[in-house]
Amino acid sequence: MQIIDGKATSLAIQDEIKEAVTERLASGSKKPHLAAIIVGDNPASRAYVGHKIKACERVGFESTLVELSENIQEEQLLQEVEALNANQAIDGFIVQLPLPDHIDSQRVLEAVHPDKDVDGFHPINAGKLSLGLPGFQPATPAGIIELLKRYGIETSGKHAVVIGRSAIVGTPMTLLLSRNANPGNCTVTMCHSRTQNLQAITRSADILIAAIGRPHFVTADMVKPGAVVIDVGINRIPDATKKSGTRLTGDVDYDALSNMDGHITPVPGGVGPMTIAMLLKNTLDAAAS
Ligand code: NDP
Repeated sequence: MQIIDGKATSLAIQDEIKEAVTERLASGSKKPHLAAIIVGDNPASRAYVGHKIKACERVGFESTLVELSENIQEEQLLQEVEALNANQAIDGFIVQLPLPDHIDSQRVLEAVHPDKDVDGFHPINAGKLSLGLPGFQPATPAGIIELLKRYGIETSGKHAVVIGRSAIVGTPMTLLLSRNANPGNCTVTMCHSRTQNLQAITRSADILIAAIGRPHFVTADMVKPGAVVIDVGINRIPDATKKSGTRLTGDVDYDALSNMDGHITPVPGGVGPMTIAMLLKNTLDAAAS
């Protein structure tokens, strides 16, 4: 399999964003400013937000981290969201998921002003995506489209199979691949936990997107030789050879597929870094509007 290098592509996009920031500053505009709300001490969430803040520094954005207690009440959190909506200095912000169980995540996401919703999770932006109108697109599927584009992968007329139907990955991925656009114009099959004959469906995929959250779920016998395999999954599994005792792995059995013909994204270093690049791109767009 030929590796699709999401890390290198993300860094190239970040260089382009950095240049755009330099041009903005030269023309008298201010630095784009991204804020992130994080609730509680979930180590994975902290690591993700840390990467996003670091990426802001790399491209010359301002960033603000709003750290809130695990025990915060929903109304207080909504007030924090309102404060960022009203803050003219902030171009866009995200609320890192997951939120604690006592908070209605959907209510919080719907409180984010659509013009500052750089995660693209607000129903207005989701609706625009489904209608093919301009708006903020969720960073992970947008990053996958960007990878397909930059690697010159032909998508028109191809059969794409998306495993997963979440609002943040599977559903927007399905919409983006089926749009009359380039990349796009795929015939898309969306699969989920009730799908029957999954293997027969995935074996007919020219482009296979795995967004399930189960380590090594996609095995070699589920993949057509020559397919483009995009692994969205981020799973932590035990690994005694690592100091931490664990390592990250995707939804695809990468080692088993590596000798086949085709393309594949690694984990880590594939879709994850692209998600960060597209979040920065959305923030740049928010600052420009
Ligand atoms: P969700 O748990 O919201 O969705 C998982 C989807 O997989 C569901 O639609 C579910 O079906 C489907 N599924 C579960 N089991 C099966 C099965 N046996 N057969 C077919 N389909 C199945 O996860 P997310 O979409 O939020 O995330 C998916 C993965 O991607 C996770 O590992 C997550 O960590 C990772 N991720 C990575 C990002 C990145 O930047 N790289 C960003 C976001 C997520 P059903 O709807 O029927 O339950």
